[in-house]
Amino acid sequence: MFRTVSRSPICIDIDNTVADTDTVMRHLMRAVSAGRVDLDHEDVICYEYWKCRDARGNRLTSEEWKKVVSDFHTEGLLDAQPYEDVVPQLERLKDVFEVHLVTSRDSASAPLTRSWLSQHGIPHDFVHFVRHGEKHRLPIGFSYAVDDDREQAYAFYAIGVPAIVVSQPWNHLDRHSPIERLSGWKTIATRMIERPPPRNGAVLRSPPDADPPSGHARPS
Ligand SMILES: [Mg+2]
Repeated sequence: MFRTVSRSPICIDIDNTVADTDTVMRHLMRAVSAGRVDLDHEDVICYEYWKCRDARGNRLTSEEWKKVVSDFHTEGLLDAQPYEDVVPQLERLKDVFEVHLVTSRDSASAPLTRSWLSQHGIPHDFVHFVRHGEKHRLPIGFSYAVDDDREQAYAFYAIGVPAIVVSQPWNHLDRHSPIERLSGWKTIATRMIERPPPRNGAVLRSPPDADPPSGHARPS
């Protein structure tokens, strides 16, 4: 089969990048803890939810966290809503790039994940399930990566793949970070389409809201 137009592959994360997983996770945390742990979005200041404390200083136990993760992968993920503009903006990107959705969700959730993508009409070419923090190891030669995981973005940058971090409370960047941190899918898609990918070694300007290094804990 021949393709008439070659589109460069790009790597797009799903959770908290395409899907508003955060809202679902905080709901599951309230449910599993019987209301004991009640996080606001801004309370999630590190990637590991179980380490985050709510306004009363409460956080999940390890057993509660395991239940949250299990509930998410068995049916909770279906409750996530796509972020605003995801569908039209991924459609724009798909005209230019080959869109690879790459997730570190449990591969057992693949059928539900594919159902969710279909249900919401999320434009894409491929879906991959990989281990956490190993998206950059896929032998695909991505020309861009978009993720809410700051460390994953740095891993891409280290191998020469420009990365954009979707702005979330847990992924503030150093002012001099070579990674871009952007809000809103229209802004992200426009950045990727209208400006050529910066290569490794190029120091990009940080967005105005970038904060100094915070020492936040990183994903497991
Ligand atoms: Mg994510």
